[in-house]
Amino acid sequence: MNKKIAVIKGDGIGPEVVTEAMKVLDKTAEKFGHSFEYDQLLMGGCSIDANGVPLTDETIEKAKAADAVLMGSIGGNTATSPWYKLPADKRPEAGLLKLRKSLNLFANLRPALLYGELKDACPLKAEIAERGFDMMIMRELTGGLYFGARKTEEVDGIVTATDTLTYNENEIRRIAVRAFDIAMKRRKKVTSVDKANVLDSSRLWRKIVEEVAKDYPEVSYEHMLVDNCAMQLVKDPAQFDVVLTENMFGDILSDEASMITGSIGMLASASLNDTKFGLYEPSGGSAPDIAGQNKANPIATILSAAMLLRYSFDMDKEADAVEAAVAKVLKDGYRTGDIMSEGMKLVSCSEMGDVIAANI
Ligand code: NAD
Repeated sequence: MNKKIAVIKGDGIGPEVVTEAMKVLDKTAEKFGHSFEYDQLLMGGCSIDANGVPLTDETIEKAKAADAVLMGSIGGNTATSPWYKLPADKRPEAGLLKLRKSLNLFANLRPALLYGELKDACPLKAEIAERGFDMMIMRELTGGLYFGARKTEEVDGIVTATDTLTYNENEIRRIAVRAFDIAMKRRKKVTSVDKANVLDSSRLWRKIVEEVAKDYPEVSYEHMLVDNCAMQLVKDPAQFDVVLTENMFGDILSDEASMITGSIGMLASASLNDTKFGLYEPSGGSAPDIAGQNKANPIATILSAAMLLRYSFDMDKEADAVEAAVAKVLKDGYRTGDIMSEGMKLVSCSEMGDVIAANI
């Protein structure tokens, strides 16, 4: 298969980790008889330096013309970089928000997976870490409280702030369909998280999820209140497969889920629209403290590339091969600095990319 991938290396460690992910994609293409063509685009601080703005219309159009986007991370040191002296809408992050919006990326996927070899990094009790976990947090990204009308006003002399949480049935249905589709590629279980004992928007959420579930008889599903879910994530994370939830709950729960894996350098993410198109990026930032030192962990970006293969290209075998190669190098004891422990082999960012590519 021939596919075109828009590549946004970005700032800080972005270029280093994306280069390693491309190395692994190229090896995968060679092994499985595909050809990947890359269109390298600027976004974030590097685009401010080159074009005066964090995102150009040309970058948006070229990203849209590709089959998927692979991204590093953008931004610099927020205390010292001149990019942060600019008005908010001219800073690196404004480019990312605009790109997500322009591409209509409404479904955010964040896997939280605890590798057996890294269970010492898990902050949970040893007996919970021992059981391991492998879940996908699926968060609605373009609706709900963060996009509703808001105002701050004086009511009877008292300053009062209001935010509104709105979802319509179409917004709920499209993300629910995505979650059940993804569950079909995994262990076929969906936990839909809401606050239906209080919120109307959650009651509608439940109703629509139940309608969608009827089309997926092989997938078991349950509803869980968000407060209970926050507790269950630390008590028994192994019970979860796909966790489906609205924007704000997903914001909080996905950070909690990533925290219990213990390592930001390992966490992939994807944002999808209603076609096969998606933007794939590591969950962490541009790590200016270690940028340019060949020290960053490229695994989050390599696993994001695996998600790209699985969800945008339907290349499940190829994605399995990348994920298996990552598991193998961890088993063989290769570690970048962030996940290093005694007795393991310390490698650089590029060496980690090399050993993973060699294991495809
Ligand atoms: P960060 O995630 O960049 O760094 C936090 C800590 O994690 C640092 O110690 C860093 O060295 C470490 N770390 C992160 N990724 C790593 C990796 N792959 N390998 C090894 N260590 C890694 O968060 P921050 O310091 O709060 O933010 C730095 C910049 O990144 C800011 O400009 C912020 O706005 C930006 N940011 C961008 C994105 C994005 O592009 N989507 C996301 C978050 C933050």
